[in-house]
Amino acid sequence: MDLFFPHYCAGCGVSLRNYQKALCLHCLTKLPRTRMHDFVDNRLERLLWGRVSYASASAFLRMPKNSEVHRMIHELKYKSNQAIGLELGTMFGAELRSSERMSHFDYVIPVPLHPKRLKERGYNQCDSIVQGVAESMQTSYSLDNLVRNHYNASQTRMSRYKRWQNVEAIFRVVDPGALEHAHVLLVDDVITTGSTIEACANVLADIKGIRISIASLAIPQV
Ligand SMILES: [Zn+2]
Repeated sequence: MDLFFPHYCAGCGVSLRNYQKALCLHCLTKLPRTRMHDFVDNRLERLLWGRVSYASASAFLRMPKNSEVHRMIHELKYKSNQAIGLELGTMFGAELRSSERMSHFDYVIPVPLHPKRLKERGYNQCDSIVQGVAESMQTSYSLDNLVRNHYNASQTRMSRYKRWQNVEAIFRVVDPGALEHAHVLLVDDVITTGSTIEACANVLADIKGIRISIASLAIPQV
């Protein structure tokens, strides 16, 4: 992957030294970690109750409005700063690996981006997170097995139920055989309502013997 390393911290904007990746030491040490993976029925798991058949779910960081984490996610999504996804993904993976509940997976896969948005942006912001997580956990990953079929631009004008139906219909697994009897970690950058992750997970759930866990780099502060 082609990585772009800017010379400023993606959290607070200070100049970075050559050896620093995407974040300054100050931002790294005060990351608002949730440690959700240590707790059964954590906030993300409760959000997905009855909607997704999951083994476990966790979000790495709390994301208050206008916070450093908010700026990091913005840099990752809109400023081509994939180094931030890789750096935070690597840290998230290290935390998961040392946890009791989420230490092992067979595959890590990203929530796919709309094909139209992928063309505009040139990258899926979840790919670098997945690569960081998988590297830390020494797990296989696949960036193109779960895909989005077409662009659903008019989504915001639909009712909640219609929107859900629409989203469900657009995800597709290219090679289901590769994920049979596997424990898959499905990764998103931010989970807010959970409707996208719900649709993805429910498409994956049709695969024989699959177990699904969910990971999000950030979760909005309530
Ligand atoms: Zn900083």
